[in-house]
Amino acid sequence: MPEIYFISLKKISMKVCFFFLLFVSTITWAQDPSKNKSAVVASVDKHQKELTHLSDQVWSFAEIAFKEAQSSKVLADYAEAQGFSVKRAVAGMPTAFTAEYGTGKPIIGIMGEFDALPGLSQKAQPTKDPLKEGAAGHGCGHNLFGPGSLGAVVAIKELIAAGKLKGTIRFYGTPAEENGGGKIYMAKAGLFNDLDVCLDWHPDYENKANMQSSQAIIDLLVEFKGKSAHAAADPWNGKSALDGAELFTTGVNFLREHVKPSVRMHYVYRKGGNVPNVIPDEASVWIWIRDSKRIGMAEVEERVRDIAKGAALMAGVQYDIKVQTGDYELLINETGAKALQKNMEWLGPITYTNEEILFAKKIQKEAGIEETGMKGEVKPLEKTKEDPDGGSTDVGDISWIVPEITFLGTTAPYKSPWHSWVVVACGGMSIGHKGMLFASKALATTMVDLFENETLRKDIRAEFEKKKGNNVWKPMVPDGPPPVPKQ
Ligand SMILES: [Zn+2]
Repeated sequence: MPEIYFISLKKISMKVCFFFLLFVSTITWAQDPSKNKSAVVASVDKHQKELTHLSDQVWSFAEIAFKEAQSSKVLADYAEAQGFSVKRAVAGMPTAFTAEYGTGKPIIGIMGEFDALPGLSQKAQPTKDPLKEGAAGHGCGHNLFGPGSLGAVVAIKELIAAGKLKGTIRFYGTPAEENGGGKIYMAKAGLFNDLDVCLDWHPDYENKANMQSSQAIIDLLVEFKGKSAHAAADPWNGKSALDGAELFTTGVNFLREHVKPSVRMHYVYRKGGNVPNVIPDEASVWIWIRDSKRIGMAEVEERVRDIAKGAALMAGVQYDIKVQTGDYELLINETGAKALQKNMEWLGPITYTNEEILFAKKIQKEAGIEETGMKGEVKPLEKTKEDPDGGSTDVGDISWIVPEITFLGTTAPYKSPWHSWVVVACGGMSIGHKGMLFASKALATTMVDLFENETLRKDIRAEFEKKKGNNVWKPMVPDGPPPVPKQ
């Protein structure tokens, strides 16, 4: 090889090498997510005490649907103190709020619930003992839900503030999940319309990226009106509203033979008269109808409406059906769930101390379930079942407006009965706190992907559009303001 040629080749190759290295390092800087992901994990660790304190405050307030005044306030105050711009009492609900940081696209949202359940008051100990007899308690772990989601947005906010991420992060303080469907009213007010992706999480007894849908539900109040008369002296002058109600539920029970196994129908009598010797002029039945898909649920609803009409005809009374609320089934986004799964695996399992494992086993013994302890590992990604297990959520509605990713995090021993004292007890101590902090990290690392990776956002959106099809979300709640009880 001629010398001159060799030198020039060497020069060229050095230049190429230099530019190649520069190119590679630029790409690596842009694509290597570990820097921002390590930063959000460090942020959650840094704020651990504050987040734990917030969850303990919400746990001790234990405020039920629409009455979450103190819970909503401490969460909104914290977001404000962290530099978020907070809007309180949005969508006609005093306890609903949004907290936002950053500007422009993408806009990534996350929801946080904070309502408790009536009658579930419980101390943070492994034996059943109410903190205050008859009071409410966090039997669904929502005291962890709100602060866990806040931990994630605070971590992202710090990266936006440092110029490491571009876009907007928004937290939704969503009241009344247990009764009232707060998110539906926030959605009706258009608050989710500009989001690219929305996330949420829920306390559970396993760590997983949710791949299972929920049931669509419609909540109806069926009222019958008749005419009172003396039940012994002149019953022929009376028209029994209770007869209408009884014939209605009899019809519903006959219908059970002809519905798919995925359908659930459950009811209670709200009114049925006062004394036996007065023919009741008012009776009402509160009924919930569910199916794994809204279309199937709507078919059953039509049959139930006909049954009410038939029952009223038979009893010779008037009837009226009021839609109280309803939820869509959850639209699963597998692309989003896979991104979440990768981050959970990167984070690794939640580990527990011997005391925590003993606490878990003791509580399992008390609750009459197998003493298996805690499941801190990350579950492999499941396949979506055609018919999910029973249960509904107003997150379902949001998932038809914007692509939704749900994380489920271990905050209670394996197979804990939900909506029970067991969940309240664990949510008020370190088992619950650990699950909450893991949730903050799993959600924040996934948000880092969503901010950094435009292709991922496009793929998530494409799957959402395909699954949604031509369906346009129509809230299944009555027109008018949210059903906030008068103070
Ligand atoms: Zn819940």
